[in-house]
Amino acid sequence: ARALATAERRFLAERVGPVLAGHLGAVRPVAASVVLVGAGVVNLLTGLRLLRAGHRVTFYDSGPDPRSGAPWTSFGCSRGGGDARMFTLTEADGYFGSPGGGPLPFAQPVKDKGWGLADLARLGPAERAWTEDNARVPGWLARSFTEEVLGYNLTSDRLWRDLRHDVPELFHGVGLREGILRIYSDQDVLEAHAARQRSLTDRDFEILSADRVSARHPALAAAHRAGAFVGGIEVNGFTVQVHRFLGLVTDAAERAGALFHWGRPVDALVPGEGGAPDGIRCRDGETVRADHYVLSPGAYGEALLRGTASAGLIHGMAGAWLTLPDPGRGLKNSLKITRSGHTAADANVTVTEGADGRSYLTVGSGYGWTGTDPDNLDPTQLEALHAAVDDTASSFFPDAFDEARRSGLLERSRRYCVRPWTASSLPVFETTRTAGGGLLLITGGHNTGGFAQAPVTAEAVASALRGESHPMHVDYHPNRLRMFYGQKDARLPE
Ligand SMILES: Cc1cc2nc3c(=O)[nH]c(=O)nc-3n(C[C@H](O)[C@H](O)[C@H](O)COP(=O)(O)OP(=O)(O)OC[C@H]3O[C@@H](n4cnc5c(N)ncnc54)[C@H](O)[C@@H]3O)c2cc1C
Repeated sequence: ARALATAERRFLAERVGPVLAGHLGAVRPVAASVVLVGAGVVNLLTGLRLLRAGHRVTFYDSGPDPRSGAPWTSFGCSRGGGDARMFTLTEADGYFGSPGGGPLPFAQPVKDKGWGLADLARLGPAERAWTEDNARVPGWLARSFTEEVLGYNLTSDRLWRDLRHDVPELFHGVGLREGILRIYSDQDVLEAHAARQRSLTDRDFEILSADRVSARHPALAAAHRAGAFVGGIEVNGFTVQVHRFLGLVTDAAERAGALFHWGRPVDALVPGEGGAPDGIRCRDGETVRADHYVLSPGAYGEALLRGTASAGLIHGMAGAWLTLPDPGRGLKNSLKITRSGHTAADANVTVTEGADGRSYLTVGSGYGWTGTDPDNLDPTQLEALHAAVDDTASSFFPDAFDEARRSGLLERSRRYCVRPWTASSLPVFETTRTAGGGLLLITGGHNTGGFAQAPVTAEAVASALRGESHPMHVDYHPNRLRMFYGQKDARLPE
């Protein structure tokens, strides 16, 4: 398996390396004007990184300012959903085929324990091809992809620490919580995850019995009595209230000179000589030009990315959110709950602080595939997704759940948001030369780990704009899977 993985990576590097080197070699490493389309967590941190490198940065986002109180449904994934995100070394994990060996989860409705959230009548050949791509990645390649992606989490870990040191004001008042408690419903899965965690950090992990977990975290005592988990591990990581965090990043970017155009959708790339991109066209008809462009539209880029190698790679995968009052009996850390075989198999429970100054638990979980259109949500399946997350919340925090139901908090806090997801579980980093001799970069598709991988993605963009290569340019190349299968002419856009 290792030899095959090495051969695949070498083939990829030999194929795309010279083209990428040509693109990067033409970049003049000077302070430049950069237009960023999309201001979710990935591009906001990218913009901040570029400002720190001396570039002039302008953002266009079809959604409202993240600091505004606009309805939650009007935002993208990062500012939509619940106000919580987590960094651990295993975010952005790989998801291939069917976890239980049965039919593909995408085709199975959520209410039947699958991931199918879309109205099936609105799915077409693009969706069929995407699910086939997911299913046919061989096990050795899936493992190799996943290892590479998790490797970038290790770099991101360092970059998150650097950011906290260099720009500490981004982390004040955002409910920063250190250390994650992972708990499991299945002993084999617990042991497999502990082994994987060890391999990522070289750190030895004590597996805590359910008794030990419950003694250290009395808030979980009722779930322990009900046999909801068999044990846990404590791992490195942190959580923040991401909505507040995005507001502070936006403030910092503005202070550093960034311009933001909120409510300004970009419809298309403007082709220049020879078809190379030469600007972006806003829906209001304006054409905007800059030295470089960075597009990071989350799950909403289907039309914008038309004609690029990234077109069709990123589909939507919704997750659901709810908030409970903090049970207040010593939940010291935010949690990651793994419930094997459950519809909401992986749930993050973040200890957050409400506007009223009280503690809450923000629960986010579930997978609901929408296909190319993130608005293709079948209400019956969406209800099933919410019901699955309700079930996790009520199984682990029965009293807090009852209180949330009685007080109306449960109903008020129910939300969802749609993550950008790829069939290969490899995120996307596309590098193209523009007609003006600059770069057009496309980033995104980080599955469960867009927050976690944002700093390392920003670093790879900053490298490209210095004319320097970064391993991510090759590893997240949008043609990687197509080249492996030879299913498509792998010539790259010049
Ligand atoms: C339940 C749940 C829990 C999660 N938990 C975690 C976690 O703990 N840790 C983690 O790392 N990740 C987590 N994720 C994933 C993470 O939230 C996403 O990967 C991340 O928010 C995606 O950010 P983004 O910047 O790529 O996209 P988005 O946040 O969607 O941003 C894209 C932006 O582009 C704009 N846009 C799109 N098209 C256009 C256009 N044509 N013109 C102008 N603007 C445009 C949109 O308005 C949007 O603001 C979770 C996801 C879910 C659903």
